[in-house]
Amino acid sequence: MVDLVTQYEKIKSEVDAATQGVFGSAQFINGPEVKHFQKELEEYLDVKHVIPCANGTDALQVALMALGLKPGDEVITSDFTFAATVEVIGLLQLTPVLVDVDQDTFNISIDAIQKAITPKTKAIIPVHLFGQPSNMEAIMEIAEANNITIVEDTAQAIGAKYTFSNGETKSAGAIGHIGTTSFFPSKNLGCFGDGGAIFTNDDDLAEKMRSIVNHGMGVRYYYDRLGVNSRLDSVQAAVLRIKLGHLDEYIAARQKAAAYYTNHFKDIEGVETPYIAPNVSHVFHQYTLKIEGLDQFACQEFMKSKGIPAMIYYPMPLHTQKAYGPEQFKHEDFAITNKLCKTVISLPMHTELDQEQLAYICTNLTEFLNRS
Ligand SMILES: *Cc1c(COP(=O)(O)O)cnc(C)c1O
Repeated sequence: MVDLVTQYEKIKSEVDAATQGVFGSAQFINGPEVKHFQKELEEYLDVKHVIPCANGTDALQVALMALGLKPGDEVITSDFTFAATVEVIGLLQLTPVLVDVDQDTFNISIDAIQKAITPKTKAIIPVHLFGQPSNMEAIMEIAEANNITIVEDTAQAIGAKYTFSNGETKSAGAIGHIGTTSFFPSKNLGCFGDGGAIFTNDDDLAEKMRSIVNHGMGVRYYYDRLGVNSRLDSVQAAVLRIKLGHLDEYIAARQKAAAYYTNHFKDIEGVETPYIAPNVSHVFHQYTLKIEGLDQFACQEFMKSKGIPAMIYYPMPLHTQKAYGPEQFKHEDFAITNKLCKTVISLPMHTELDQEQLAYICTNLTEFLNRS
């Protein structure tokens, strides 16, 4: 699905020099590389505060911890996403309110949010799935009208842009009260291990979250609140500084591969190529087709036999997962997610796909579709 080896080879001399520098300095934790990366990411996203942390799941957890919610408070999020989003809600003894998604964008449905709001709703976590920002204008209006905090899960969409109806453009993750991301190696901005970050324009939340990632410490060895240990280490920050410098170019490479796929599949009967809302840039963390009546697993097997990885993101709605209390949800409330889980297939998507590989992938998937 990704080719991180070729990508590394192209930036090897830069990365090797930077990481050697960290080894030589022995400042492995909270060293200058972390501070520099933080500043550079603040500039890139045009956000006031970036708080680096250990991974994208911690970023979500720390964001929710900073809100001072009480057990039983409700947090609305998408039924069609990676487990981390709902997991942290449960870990903090908050009540996850899963809602259905929009058929075209795979992102949280605005109608479904509106129906799910109660007096106990304290936060909404829109996930910018597969690299496309959610409908943030509508979400921020709902937040304002109902005094709800928005935590954008930007793990799959760093670098994506969203334009409001007044013409203002912002980076995904810098629109809500808090944004979170992951630097897991296969993410669009990936490091060489685990990493994550939290974004906010709110000084008060920033101070709380900086303290929470460092054991809840304020002044050294004085603890103001319960915290966790969640740090981005200096070696990862050094790698991320270099990759951040290439991020726009990486995004362009993904968009180019996506355009190739779309051009190939757009006229094939029964195949629906990804919809891109007119006011966003889609950074294609995943390229996901919807194919009516597809035997997903047979398709995956066929592609595998041709040496092509293809993945089903996601095969099972979160509301049906044993871990999250499926009995509290009504299956029929998730008509779109239920259907998507049976029709989606994601093709290889990364920065190193060349025309020959893309053609080979397209030819083989088309052959499978013609057979079945
Ligand atoms: C990857 C991912 C996360 C979790 O990030 P980790 O760094 O793996 O903890 C959270 N949410 C979404 C949508 C993701 O894709």
